[in-house]
Amino acid sequence: MCKDPHNHPRIVDLQDYLSGCTCEQEHPAPEVTLYRGADACQVLARDCRAIYQDQPVLLLFDPDTYAVAGAELQQCLIAENVNLTTYQFDSHPVATDTLIATVSALIHASVLIISVGSGTVNDLGKYSSSEAKIDFWSVPTAPSMNGYTSGIAAIKVKGVKRTLPATPPQRLYVLPEVIQQAPLKLRQAGFCDVLAKVVSDIDWQCESLLFSGGYCGLPATMMAGVEKSYSEHPEEIGRGDESAVMGLFNGLLLSGVAMSLAGSSAPASGGEHLVSHFWDMREAITGREPELHGLQVGAGIILSTACYQRLRQLDSAALQPQADRIFAATAAQIPVIWGPYAAEVDKQFQNKRELLKQFDHLLPQKWEELQSLFQQVPSPEYFAALFARTGAPFNLDAFRLTEEEFTLAALNGRAIRERITVLDLAANAGVLEAATEDALQLLR
Ligand SMILES: [Zn+2]
Ligand SMILES: [Zn+2]
Repeated sequence: MCKDPHNHPRIVDLQDYLSGCTCEQEHPAPEVTLYRGADACQVLARDCRAIYQDQPVLLLFDPDTYAVAGAELQQCLIAENVNLTTYQFDSHPVATDTLIATVSALIHASVLIISVGSGTVNDLGKYSSSEAKIDFWSVPTAPSMNGYTSGIAAIKVKGVKRTLPATPPQRLYVLPEVIQQAPLKLRQAGFCDVLAKVVSDIDWQCESLLFSGGYCGLPATMMAGVEKSYSEHPEEIGRGDESAVMGLFNGLLLSGVAMSLAGSSAPASGGEHLVSHFWDMREAITGREPELHGLQVGAGIILSTACYQRLRQLDSAALQPQADRIFAATAAQIPVIWGPYAAEVDKQFQNKRELLKQFDHLLPQKWEELQSLFQQVPSPEYFAALFARTGAPFNLDAFRLTEEEFTLAALNGRAIRERITVLDLAANAGVLEAATEDALQLLR
């Protein structure tokens, strides 16, 4: 319980989960605190006044988030005589280096940035405050992704979306009604993003078994305690049922914390995230505006689970030593797919060349242990049905993706990051093409 009225409980008490740690490394205690209530705006304003007094504070929102929470918060801050500067982004802002420069120019002597919003507004505030080494508070407006509590921000730099380190907020102030009433599509996106962890955790275990030994069970233990509160309630999340949507939101907050605890995005970002990053980066070439992060990740989950399904059916006798040939074939596609950005992508892919070469002997050698991991992944049919049960369409058309662009990402997404994922396993086991076709069947 909090003795100081300006302190709120931490989102996670690490002590509750330390028994789940299997790596024996230090895990930094997450410092993010959470206040949740219909009076969150008043409480935030009082805290802000008490902590920063007359020092300048910068408040960020866009027209949508102003309407649902920004206006009320602004009034409360003014009523508390906070030294306030506000900035409203245009509708549907994109987190670019240009907007980061705009925010930086507004900071002046500000000691705190408050973002009212979800993905973009949150990332703009998180990244700008982190760069300026000032405090950051967040007022989330949708359960749409797990970035509220994560240590990264997605920013488009010179036209290419990058995932950059950024300090998580010190405080979150949540208006439950706003989260609950967020548009259906945003709720569906968050549902996909939080469930990615089910798949990416196995990606991480496979990588750890083959190479790094760096897996820790702590993030999975943390999520296991809350998973049922959202994974079993897609219809309720679709309908905006309070306990299901707040269960989802809580899962997203924990999943972001789990990432920062592990000191890596591995627990919540595997092959299913690579295809989403692939489509984000391809905007510079195709002009296709990316779909919501979580929805692209959802399509990636169908692909990853289709890979696991194919891998499960494969006998170790069918494994061929073909790492060199497969690496060369994928590397040859990089200039074709990436044009002016090919050098940067090639660098990432070359970084894992030595690891990929070892697949020739490691896959047969570890096949039995890998199989016991493959067996734990639910089928792509299960996830496709689950995501559709939220009530919003779940297919390539809805995400403005062509079959060609999906296939391109499925077969080449593994080249854009040096992390080893199920996409590398499937490619080297010779089942990536077949799994891509399986996934397409479910996404048409
Ligand atoms: Zn650990
Ligand atoms: Zn994600």
